[in-house]
Amino acid sequence: MNERERKRLEATAYHEAGHAVAGYLLRRRFEYVTIVPEGDCEGVTEFGPLDHLIGALVEGAESGPILAYLRQALVTVLAGPTAEERWSGVPQPLEHLWGQDALATEDDHAQAIDMAGFIGNNPEDAASVLRDAALEARLLWREPRNWAAVDVLAAELLQVQRVEGRRARRVIREVLAAARNRVEGEMPVGEPHDR
Ligand SMILES: [Zn+2]
Repeated sequence: MNERERKRLEATAYHEAGHAVAGYLLRRRFEYVTIVPEGDCEGVTEFGPLDHLIGALVEGAESGPILAYLRQALVTVLAGPTAEERWSGVPQPLEHLWGQDALATEDDHAQAIDMAGFIGNNPEDAASVLRDAALEARLLWREPRNWAAVDVLAAELLQVQRVEGRRARRVIREVLAAARNRVEGEMPVGEPHDR
């Protein structure tokens, strides 16, 4: 593998780890996460389908909780591109996607446009749904412990290529818990444990 391929694989690992950590944080289950290409995709985080929720809405179910869940699901879709963005430093045009299909260069972009269109009441509202979700997805990675979880899961993906959902959730939970313990300061980092 040359340097360029290695970088590409690392970008994919961060991208998929971003989807998975956001799925954990926002309570959207996934079956597995992989950096083995499937079809046209360089990697996959296999979330459950949302069709039943959309079907329920169409059939007149109470819309509030379903739309709230779909907004979170939209953040999990954008969390992959934003994790890759943070890793690479190359900005993604996420807040401008609405009405600019030419900018939608990834499946995630196209899916985000569809979802925002479904959630929004009108085009203006859909554009703002998309902007808000992009902001929320970026804010996830400003939290150091969330990013630490992405780092650890990406490293594991680079080693083993595919991680089952249960294993991924355990890894993420442990990183978040360790960071929380450090913040609570019972044992400050760098302090000698015994002397
Ligand atoms: Zn993705």
